This record gives sequence, structure tokens and C-alpha cells, in this order.
Amino acid sequence: MSRKEKILSEAENELARRVMDARISFKKRESEKAAANPELAFAKARLGYIDMCLDRRSLGMGVSAKIKEIAGEKNAQLFSLSTAELEREKAAQEALIQKLSAEYGVSSGAEDDGRYYCPVCKDRGYVTDENGIDRRCTCFKEIFALKIREASGLPEGDFELTAPPAGMYPEKADKERYGISESPAGNAAKMYEFAARFARDTGAASKKLLFITGPVGVGKTHLACCVAEEAIRKCMFVVYSGIVSVLDSLQTRFFNSDEEREAYEEKREFTETADMLIIDDLGVENVTDKRYESLISLIDARSANMLKTVITSNYSLSEIRSIYGERLTSRFADRKNSMNLRLAGDDIRLLKNTVR
Ligand SMILES: [Zn+2]
Repeated sequence: MSRKEKILSEAENELARRVMDARISFKKRESEKAAANPELAFAKARLGYIDMCLDRRSLGMGVSAKIKEIAGEKNAQLFSLSTAELEREKAAQEALIQKLSAEYGVSSGAEDDGRYYCPVCKDRGYVTDENGIDRRCTCFKEIFALKIREASGLPEGDFELTAPPAGMYPEKADKERYGISESPAGNAAKMYEFAARFARDTGAASKKLLFITGPVGVGKTHLACCVAEEAIRKCMFVVYSGIVSVLDSLQTRFFNSDEEREAYEEKREFTETADMLIIDDLGVENVTDKRYESLISLIDARSANMLKTVITSNYSLSEIRSIYGERLTSRFADRKNSMNLRLAGDDIRLLKNTVR
């Protein structure tokens, strides 16, 4: 089973568990209410016997002595009523149940009154759209997104792509200090907008590579995580991984056991086929040419398969060119497929330290 299949089946099991829990607690509530309202419980039971009599009669059958015994003395005369009398009694009991239910705030047995985990799809997990096609219901998508996030390796945190975190970027422009003529806050607001466009556009012509650069501590990883979170909300499969771990997963290596090999292959396949791959901190690893060939192949294969890749780095494009050479740089410089964002500001980690 691939990691995608595992995540999907975990989500399906989780929904089934929640549906079961909802059903059990509904039944429990109903029986507690019935115990608290014996009159209502009796009316419901009586209605059940009436329905049974009518059903049996339509089949030309009688009701067994055993059932008559269970029904008790108070219901005994039901079994000798004519069909017309039974129909009248049925209407009377239904009206009584309605009235008592309203009085006690109890379920009258109508379709959707707290018995479902999801009233929208009535726990089918699907809703039928206007074209008659079954689509996954939001109840399932929410759980699915949760499972995708758990498996993504994304750090804990509040990642909102709508705008940069308040107070994170200086409002005052200082070209000498930040290397850009506009204020870091104004720049960041633009970068967040571009990033949101990258996350939103998923069509064939959309850009597949997002390169986020900037000095240490200006929130590159945070922005990458915001993009990832946006994709997860749309139930896209996402992997977040540091550059070292990505390069390791692309290497041919020796395994001590079948389990080890299977875990490795599952991770590698997920890295290659996830809808979005976040590679954090390009530049912190040991540079060896051979490994970059596999990284370039990974980036190319993912773009060709319409999958998105996000890479963060402390290095600018020209630094990448001098360190890694033209082949890797050309992937980022390709304007048709790649979007380059540069954040500027103060090192947030140092700022936090001085505040403390
Ligand atoms: Zn639903």
C-alpha cells in the first residue's frame, strides 16, 4: 500500500469511527429520553405493534402468540382491530408521539435529528451534485485534510496565507539595511499575494516551482508552510522535508531489512508523487555534484507530472548559480514554470531574543 493509499484509508476509518460514535450516543440519548418519558416510550412501542399488524395483514398473516405476549395487556385489543380501525389508531399514535416529542424535546423519529455525525450527507460520506455524480462530502474532506497534515511532516503552527504575521516585518524602508527600496512589510505583503496565487493555481499552465529566498530568519519557512497548509486544505497530498532528508531519500543505499527498504521506498515514492513537496533550506547540506543530479531529476519529473515543488534557501539566485551551477539555477530562472520570491527584514529569531 502506498502512503497515499494509507492516508486515504486512515481517513475513511476515522470517518467510520465518528459515524459509529454518533450512532451509539444517539441511541443512548434516545433510550435515556424514553426512560424519562414512559408515556412516549409506550406510544412508540404501540405504533410499532400497529405497523406490524398492518404489515402482517397485508401479507395475509397473523401475529404470533409470542409477540402478543411481549406486547402486553395494554396492547392486547390491537390484535383484534379491523384494518380501518388500525389505520385510525396509527394516526392517533403518530399525533400523540408528535405532541409528546415536542413537549419533551425528544426526537420524533423523523430522519435527521442528531442521529448523524454529518447531517449534510447523512453519514454517506458523499453528496450527489447537480449532475448526479457522487462527490466526497465536506465531513470526509475535513478528516482527510487532517490525516494529510499528520503525514506531511509539516511543523506545528498557525500558517495563514492571507497576510504576513503581524509585526514580523519592519514598516520602515531602509535600502542599505534590507537591500530593497520598499519597506520589508510592503514587500512581504506582495510576496504573500504571489505565494497565494502559486498555491491557488493548479491548472496545467500554472507554475510548478516556487523558490523562496532571503537572509536568515526572515520567515521563508513560515511562508512555505503557509503555502503547504493552503494545499492541505484542498486535500492535496503534501510533504515537508529538509534538503538533507530529501537528498538522502534520493540516494541508492544499503538496507538492513525488508522493513527498512519498504519504509524507504514508500517515503521516496511519496516524495516523488505528492501533489506538493516543500524542500526547506537548500544550502545547509554538503554539496556533492552527484546528489544534485538526482535533485534536478526530481524537480524536472515533478514539474512534468504537474506536481508543485517549493524550495526555500538563504541563497539568492546568483549565489545558487555560483554554488550549484547553471543546471539547477536554470530551473528557478525559468519564468514560465518558476516563481521566485524574496523576503527581506530583520532576523526574527534575534528580534525575539532581544524582546525576551
Ligand atoms: Zn458529510
